[in-house]
Amino acid sequence: MATINQQQLTGDEALTRLTDGNARYVQAQMEHPRRGIERRQELVGGQSPFALVLGCADSRVSPTVLFDQGLGDLFVIRVAGNVLDTTVLASIEYAAAFLAVPLIVVLGHSNCGAVGAAVAGKPVPGHLPDLVSIIQPAVDQVQDGGGDILNNAIQANARRVADELAASQPVLADLVQAGTLKIVAAEYYLDDGRVEWLDK
Ligand SMILES: [Zn+2]
Repeated sequence: MATINQQQLTGDEALTRLTDGNARYVQAQMEHPRRGIERRQELVGGQSPFALVLGCADSRVSPTVLFDQGLGDLFVIRVAGNVLDTTVLASIEYAAAFLAVPLIVVLGHSNCGAVGAAVAGKPVPGHLPDLVSIIQPAVDQVQDGGGDILNNAIQANARRVADELAASQPVLADLVQAGTLKIVAAEYYLDDGRVEWLDK
């Protein structure tokens, strides 16, 4: 639990750091920071990531790349559709309670295949129905709203997961109430690389 060469940021400061990193990535002005031997060595004794990202497993959506961050910066959990189950929630609680991350980002992305499967509503094999059923409420929420159903469902899904985390007892809700943990939803766009922070 050592703090590694990094003063503790607030949630807002962490958000600014991600926004700045994404702007560099969008414009192909990446700094590729904190990835050398020195950084690797200084992290041997512990980690102090300044943000947690719950993102999709999609190979095109790598948080450390698209936010232009380095080793030890982001605590990343990736699962198709950026959904919650108890093991994902436990990993998030670990980062919040023991690593004191000040910011959690639930990162959906355009053209998400997992959300697309829920929108399509067609039979899927194996354990995929378990995943689709977790996403389904987000699709139901936007189904009659018109517009781009897939993109609206992607945003609704990210917002729902963020809301669920903010209300999660014990651990997370208490930290949010205390003002030491910020939770936001976002969408990453595959075409231009931009991350949009979503309003509640
Ligand atoms: Zn996806």
